[in-house]
Amino acid sequence: MSGYIGAAVIALLLAAIEFWGSSAARSISLLGDAFHVSADLAFFIVAGYTLRLKRKHPAEAEEFERRYGMLTAWLLVLSGIFTGGMGAAHLFELFESKVHHETLLPFALLGLGGNVLMLFILHRYHIGHDHGHSASETHHSAFWHTALDTASSAVVVGVAVMRPSYMTDHFWRSIFAHADAVAALIICGILLYLGFEKRQRLRKP
Ligand SMILES: [Zn+2]
Repeated sequence: MSGYIGAAVIALLLAAIEFWGSSAARSISLLGDAFHVSADLAFFIVAGYTLRLKRKHPAEAEEFERRYGMLTAWLLVLSGIFTGGMGAAHLFELFESKVHHETLLPFALLGLGGNVLMLFILHRYHIGHDHGHSASETHHSAFWHTALDTASSAVVVGVAVMRPSYMTDHFWRSIFAHADAVAALIICGILLYLGFEKRQRLRKP
């Protein structure tokens, strides 16, 4: 339980910082990460509350987890579609947006640090360890989920350091200028994968 509370507090802070940073730096990939952290926050609340219910009303806990867990799975999928759509629109130059690489860097590093911290908390508390048969499976999948979270914030750090002004060559300058949109598509893929994987797992009887 305390592991979920810790993870939820970090996710809440991280989401607020990332939404702020994505608008300050005009970054779609960081916005995608902010949506992702928000969906995870919803998941930590559901998982923590399920654990509490399991002690008092075990019969209701399962149904609660399935129903609201499914909701957080769809939140991930929707975030993925939105992030991917924005990234594609930017890539096809449907709208003009210039990423502020200097502004993005501290936010991207904070995002990465926050995700690493959550990874440690989930690992340390062995979340999903002491309830039910599929406990180790749940923990395993939660761990991999957070590992992918960390990978997607690492992608945003990559965008922040790919400043087009570093490049004198026109071709590379143009590649670097589209890094944010490409990163948004990568993050879209991660979000869709995590959402559908969670949906699949909750469906299992
Ligand atoms: Zn996540």
